[in-house]
Amino acid sequence: MYAYCGSARGPGGLAARIARHLRLDKARRWHIDHLTTKAPVSRIFWEVDGDECALVDCLLEAGATASVPGFGSSDCRSCPAHLLAVTTSILSAALAGLPTCPLLTKKQIPRGS
Ligand SMILES: [Zn+2]
Repeated sequence: MYAYCGSARGPGGLAARIARHLRLDKARRWHIDHLTTKAPVSRIFWEVDGDECALVDCLLEAGATASVPGFGSSDCRSCPAHLLAVTTSILSAALAGLPTCPLLTKKQIPRGS
């Protein structure tokens, strides 16, 4: 499974960005659009005013790997990618680290909400 770490600083904020990621019918503007138009999004985690690069660091520390270097991180100079290969245990480890890695909340929204 893969985890994509992104921001929502554009118009419409978080709700608009999440809704865009869930839509299958959209212009392919970013790398992630090529995946979200072909593969289902299973979960979305978010934190208001979070930092996607810090989240990438947190997941890498938990054992995630950047299997497609540069994917989703064209405008980032510090991350190997913003799309990471993860296992359920890696994701759980990252979530379990919330007190020291305040990047994610356990809030989840199901697809289509
Ligand atoms: Zn980054």
